[in-house]
Amino acid sequence: MRYDYLIVGAGLYGAVFAHELKKAGSSCLVIDKREHIAGNVYTENMSGINVHMYGAHIFHTSNKRVWQYVGQFAEFNNYINSPVAVYGDELYNLPFNMNTFHGLWGVKTPEQARRKLDEEIASARELLGDGEPANLEQQALRLVGRDIYEKLIKGYTEKQWGRDCTDLPAFIIRRLPVRFTYDNNYFNDRYQGIPMGGYTGIVEKLLDGIPVRLGCSYKEFMAECEAKGSEADTFAKILYTGMIDEFYDYRFGELEYRTLKFETEMLTGVENYQGNAVVNYTERQIPYTRIIEHKHFEYAKSPDTVITKEYPGKWSKGDEPYYPVNDERNSALYEKYKELADSERDIIFGGRLGQYKYYDMDKVIEAALDAADKEIEGLM
Ligand SMILES: Cc1cc2nc3c(=O)[nH]c(=O)nc-3n(C[C@H](O)[C@H](O)[C@H](O)COP(=O)(O)OP(=O)(O)OC[C@H]3O[C@@H](n4cnc5c(N)ncnc54)[C@H](O)[C@@H]3O)c2cc1C
Repeated sequence: MRYDYLIVGAGLYGAVFAHELKKAGSSCLVIDKREHIAGNVYTENMSGINVHMYGAHIFHTSNKRVWQYVGQFAEFNNYINSPVAVYGDELYNLPFNMNTFHGLWGVKTPEQARRKLDEEIASARELLGDGEPANLEQQALRLVGRDIYEKLIKGYTEKQWGRDCTDLPAFIIRRLPVRFTYDNNYFNDRYQGIPMGGYTGIVEKLLDGIPVRLGCSYKEFMAECEAKGSEADTFAKILYTGMIDEFYDYRFGELEYRTLKFETEMLTGVENYQGNAVVNYTERQIPYTRIIEHKHFEYAKSPDTVITKEYPGKWSKGDEPYYPVNDERNSALYEKYKELADSERDIIFGGRLGQYKYYDMDKVIEAALDAADKEIEGLM
């Protein structure tokens, strides 16, 4: 059969793009190397609890178009992300706000908190002097002082990056927002929530009526097409949401990522394990960065619970690439691949792997809608 588009990747980017192109009258075939659709937003129902299989996913956006768009495919609940951080026997609210300051210093009013924070920053700056921060530790100390840095930033950041904060560049932390209100809402966006029934349902609806082949990588698919010769399906264009360096057979070298290992456990007969969906562990000695208790995302009524421990790790080829490492080397390497990509007439690169970019879900939907609009304009 002759299709208008081969879409590589059934994640949010690929699914939104396919949905829009199908609506505009184009024919699409979607393939994914995984055995399921939805990419990293994939959720699986266990004992009545929708488990976020690739890490906690909280939908938040200030973009009304995107909020209305996802609202067509799911009803969102009123979940507000309010993580807590455990440091030894101590427990703090995040993001840094009056609750955090009260826990750290016993202060009660914004004025007391500001004064204490200013003192912390002043004594850190006195020790560090006036020059540019040489590393992430110095940057964090200048922004929030020693207490917050040591209890809530240092260990967590070192686990995330697998390096000491003194060996990490200062630019990783540009700002550390603090709030002088008793507000534990992690995000500042206008809209926030979790799709009732899980994210997989959204992608199922997006891909409704579109043929999808799972467990099939782009390379395998192309080899199959070649073997079939004139019998093979053909495509006018390709949307590729896999790794851009892999697409080009790593001809300029490999882009680097950070990976994560998820350890998911069903705790039968435990109704409520930690009382919150997201609990961060900020000490370096504890090997995981956070524990997710999935039932709290959708206020599930199950007598059991499911928790996931999240372990960051060094990425090597073959591991799941979760976070791009946007340092100088990788950014320069990506630019070389992007130059090749820009010269392609019939291949579009999109999504977090195709564009080597950390994208929140709302941003990935926005980017896919923009790319689809551009294609549809070209069809007219
Ligand atoms: C741990 C974690 C937590 C996150 N939390 C949040 C959050 O709270 N809120 C938020 O807004 N965003 C969050 N995100 C971001 C969110 O996951 C992404 O925005 C979104 O998944 C990106 O969609 P995508 O389609 O670009 O990529 P993906 O979801 O990765 O989809 C790409 C698909 O392509 C497939 N593929 C890749 N290569 C090939 C190939 N060669 N052949 C065939 N198929 C291929 C993959 O199997 C995958 O299914 C989080 C991300 C991570 C890693």
